Amino acid sequence: MFLLVKRWLAVACLCISFVVVPTFAASDWEVIKVNGHDYLSVDNISRFYGLPAGVAAAGDKIRLETVSPLEFVSGSREAMINGARSWLCFPLVEQDGKYLVSRTDVAKTIEPLVRPHRVPAVGKVQTVVLDPGHGGHDKGQVSRYGCEKDFALDVARKLRPLLQAKGLRVIMTREGDYFVPLEVRAQIANAARNPIFVSIHFNGTNDDPNATGFEIFSFTPRGAPSTSDSAVALSSFNMQPGSEVDAQSMALSACIYHSLLGHIPEYDRGIKRARFAVLRLTKVPAVLIEGGFLTERGECKLISKKDWRGKLAAAIGVGIENYRELDVKKQPPMLVADYRKQTKSAPIEPVIQEGQLKEADASLISLVGKSKFVSPQQTSTPSKVSPLDSAVIVP
Ligand SMILES: [Zn+2]
Repeated sequence: MFLLVKRWLAVACLCISFVVVPTFAASDWEVIKVNGHDYLSVDNISRFYGLPAGVAAAGDKIRLETVSPLEFVSGSREAMINGARSWLCFPLVEQDGKYLVSRTDVAKTIEPLVRPHRVPAVGKVQTVVLDPGHGGHDKGQVSRYGCEKDFALDVARKLRPLLQAKGLRVIMTREGDYFVPLEVRAQIANAARNPIFVSIHFNGTNDDPNATGFEIFSFTPRGAPSTSDSAVALSSFNMQPGSEVDAQSMALSACIYHSLLGHIPEYDRGIKRARFAVLRLTKVPAVLIEGGFLTERGECKLISKKDWRGKLAAAIGVGIENYRELDVKKQPPMLVADYRKQTKSAPIEPVIQEGQLKEADASLISLVGKSKFVSPQQTSTPSKVSPLDSAVIVP
């Protein structure tokens, strides 16, 4: 069923250590026009990054057991990049026997996922703004074991001391069970010093009681559709503004997501894009984590366990630390496979430290004004090696 009809390996992987790898410049990109839009071939991308690539036929699934660093599906936006599912803005197209990826995706999706350490100003973080989703009258997803708002707050509370122990300043957008308007959450992030914004949620769906897994979102680039938008809607998104920091946000997504998947064996739903209010209104690197489904019996039970939430918090913390190290080490971060190897020998420990929590480092109320905090009338939006040093393609 996971038949891989068409597959080829790039030659660049054959560059063994003694061979001098040619340095690609932007001019080595061969832009191919499709209906007036710029595309680049999978072959070209593979050579540029020095990474083997595979293409599954339309309708097929990527075969996970033989996955290359770059795996695409003809006609689909689904891809596997360095072992994690990643969603392109535009589907892979086939023309004259070549598989083509949009130029937007090479610049905005593949580049920050493959070379996050080369994103300008990446990893410069002093403050982590933790945003537990929902709160107060807004319960989020409700399950038989508890509400999303409470689980999200608990994960943020468990994560805070871990980040503080690493010398990071932590601000929580809410400290208790009350509702904070989404624009206020964004204001808190925008007012902080060298911040990143990490919103914590749990998933739910009425469509499929068996849906499970992790996913992570950052803001959709300008001119591109969000992951949940259908291909038909593509043209209507051309006027939507993008974000100055979308590459940093994508790098942050990658760092956190690889750690999540590498530490906790949940289904990989992927690195996605959305225009959620908190992602649209924050002007700083920002991600929204969906830490599993409260509508699926087994996963809901896991999420309700304190120890499991401790693991989740620890995995997010490791991902944030890896993001910060991009600025220090200037090397690619650890990937899902690296974490899995490491986790075999030393599993991540759940962190249970209630009662020893330090207060947040800054008073939110002084930051944004007390009146903004309790406003039950407010409605929330639904939760819902060397070639690696070559020039970046400009979108
Ligand atoms: Zn939510």
